[in-house]
Amino acid sequence: MTIQAAEVAKRRTFAIISHPDAGKTTITEKLLLMGQAIAVAGTVKSRKSDRHATSDWMEMEKQRGISITTSVMQFPYREHMINLLDTPGHEDFSEDTYRTLTAVDSALMVLDGGKGVEPRTIALMDVCRLRDTPIVSFINKLDRDIRDPIELLDEIEAVLKIKAAPITWPIGCYKDFKGVYHLAEDKIIVYVPGHGHERIEVPVIQGLDSAEAREHLGDLYEGFLEQLELVQGACHEFDQDAFLRGEMTPVFFGTALGNFGVDQVLDSIVDWAPQPLSRAAHERVVEPIEEKFTGFVFKIQANMDPKHRDRIAFMRICSGKYEKGMKMRHVRIKKDLKIADALTFFSSEREMLEEAYAGDIIGLHNHGTIQIGDTFSEGETLGFTGIPHFAPELFRRVRLKDPLKSKQLRQGLQELAEEGATQVFFPERSNDIILGAVGVLQFDVVASRLKEEYKVECAYEAVNVWSARWIECEDKKKLEDFKTKAFENIAIDGGGHLTYLAPTRVNLSLMEERWPDVKFRATREHH
Ligand code: GDP
Repeated sequence: MTIQAAEVAKRRTFAIISHPDAGKTTITEKLLLMGQAIAVAGTVKSRKSDRHATSDWMEMEKQRGISITTSVMQFPYREHMINLLDTPGHEDFSEDTYRTLTAVDSALMVLDGGKGVEPRTIALMDVCRLRDTPIVSFINKLDRDIRDPIELLDEIEAVLKIKAAPITWPIGCYKDFKGVYHLAEDKIIVYVPGHGHERIEVPVIQGLDSAEAREHLGDLYEGFLEQLELVQGACHEFDQDAFLRGEMTPVFFGTALGNFGVDQVLDSIVDWAPQPLSRAAHERVVEPIEEKFTGFVFKIQANMDPKHRDRIAFMRICSGKYEKGMKMRHVRIKKDLKIADALTFFSSEREMLEEAYAGDIIGLHNHGTIQIGDTFSEGETLGFTGIPHFAPELFRRVRLKDPLKSKQLRQGLQELAEEGATQVFFPERSNDIILGAVGVLQFDVVASRLKEEYKVECAYEAVNVWSARWIECEDKKKLEDFKTKAFENIAIDGGGHLTYLAPTRVNLSLMEERWPDVKFRATREHH
């Protein structure tokens, strides 16, 4: 194996998908602890506080605790190199969240054991499904009362349409939580409370039949055997191929707060999840072990560091090797750039990596020339596919405070849309400008950046749009018919694409029924 192939084989690049409050931040801390990236878990959130911010936008970023250093975390674990990509969870949820999932090879789904599958879990799973991303599941908060685990697995299968294969099964919960039973390996992994912030050697009891197991489970023993019988009869056995096809998810139980079960999840990612995969470009499929460098940009974020007022473009490396000072071809603008100062995200700040391989993420300083979806290569003309726009779920009409600034407004919105900060729609029937977003914070960000960077002040108004769909139709005549009949709801988006702005869900289904030759797409590829 070449050095490069060995480096690729070591890599695992994944993201955590979860509904807010399920425990993503807590798990992230414990994962970093596993990688010994931080000495004491609990520092992920606090690291942001001592930064200085100068603009409103930066101030907002600071307050909400969004920082580029926690967007991508790289740490070593068991001879592997783990890249964990953060997907913002709360109000800072945005299109970036969705697009980050196009840059990973697997995902960890975290559910709150007391709540089960929640709306954001469903939305994020839908995005994972676009590329059949393998999903590992973790049911969290076993130190509290949780719902019946069998019911939780049923819910995963029914709502998320994926087979659930329990790898471990919980023994009790809340005050009775005694650990988990590893189904295939017939061993009990014992929960010892009070070690949430450190790595300990976890006690293991071999054999459920052993005297030790009986003693550990005590009153729970008989009931647990009965439940286990049910589980073994009703549940799927884990099948790695089905997992890799995105059809089955291995399920683990634990408590992130108690730092229990997180290591099992990380082990499963190392053992079962794919190493960096090949990627489709319009021209051909690119293999990660190819010698020449390629990568694509999936996210652009304003930099928090006041010394660098530019923005950072996050690039996923698809093949070859990044080396400091190398030359890259920015394919869309056909320019060669010398990249001397790409950011790497090794989580221990002492070590600065000077090289990176397929699966790794690097950050490029962007002075406005880089857009979401841009491909970089070592000269080859190549365009990676699969970095889509997602139909927005929230809409606002933009009202300009100073009518004389309409040109600046349009230019600003155009550029912010190209960068992926928002989506912009121009309805055919009026001079309105409508913004679309998937997270409500996107609107705040856009308003504050318009003010800061384009000197335009705007306000937002409610608008009667439920969702947007990109229109495609091969039959030119039918398309013209459609455009005439649907005129009231037709718009052109920031990229010049024909869009249908549906006022209600019912309206959209009616239109889809009425126009079978017209395709109403919920995602659109860049370029
Ligand atoms: P996020 O919104 O998904 O990032 O969730 P957080 O990690 O911030 O967790 C949300 C809340 O749940 C916090 O108060 C955590 O302390 C708590 N939490 C997370 N994991 C556990 C757990 O295993 N047990 C209990 N009891 N609380 C937890």
